Amino acid sequence: EVPVLTLDGPSGSGKGTIASRVARTLGWHLLDSGALYRLVALGAARRGIPMEDEAALADYALQMDVVFEVQPDSGEVLAKLDGEAVGDAIRTEQCGNDASKVAALGPVREALLQRQRDFRRPPGLVADGRDMGTTVFPDAGLKIYLTASAEVRAERRYKQLKEKGISASVADLFREIAERDARDTERRSSPLKPATDALVLDTSSLDINQVVDQVLEQCRE
Ligand code: C5P
Repeated sequence: EVPVLTLDGPSGSGKGTIASRVARTLGWHLLDSGALYRLVALGAARRGIPMEDEAALADYALQMDVVFEVQPDSGEVLAKLDGEAVGDAIRTEQCGNDASKVAALGPVREALLQRQRDFRRPPGLVADGRDMGTTVFPDAGLKIYLTASAEVRAERRYKQLKEKGISASVADLFREIAERDARDTERRSSPLKPATDALVLDTSSLDINQVVDQVLEQCRE
């Protein structure tokens, strides 16, 4: 079996950065499952599919023409939708919120299952998401669940946006994060929670390097 490391947790826990650094270090493939939900939301919006039309959204998720290309120099992953690079269009707050709405629909989650499992190829896979350890790869050899307080996550998001020259208020970001957490943890289909056999790591008082080191240390054990 091809080994899988699952990294789950709420938004702002630093998962994305950590998953990509760990995958590069190990030389493993990377699945950014959040990007898939964001792409469904973006592609559906572009096609005028209403965010409430469960069946049409699931159908789109199944058919969606997506490829991920790893940039050899930076290791950054570039998503192409219908043959065109999507760039930052999937990274907006709007797209994140829409993604969390389509992600609440069971049929959409089901439609993306096989697509996610297809990322499991030798020599290994680092899978970043919310339900990687619970639903998509329940047999993963190592499962890590990253958390951080909502305050710390709002601060991190604020700094990220500031670096990009985007102004925001910490209070607004905190509210959005709390709302998204509630939607992700309260939904019926694959709610956000650690797998019973996951190692829970609170990153509130750790920086990225410390978390990456701890994750790699776990991999070696
Ligand atoms: O991680 P990211 O912020 O890109 O994910 C966007 C949204 O997609 C999340 O708020 C969550 O609702 C949803 N998602 C999910 N399951 C995953 C990955 C993301 O429900 N495995």
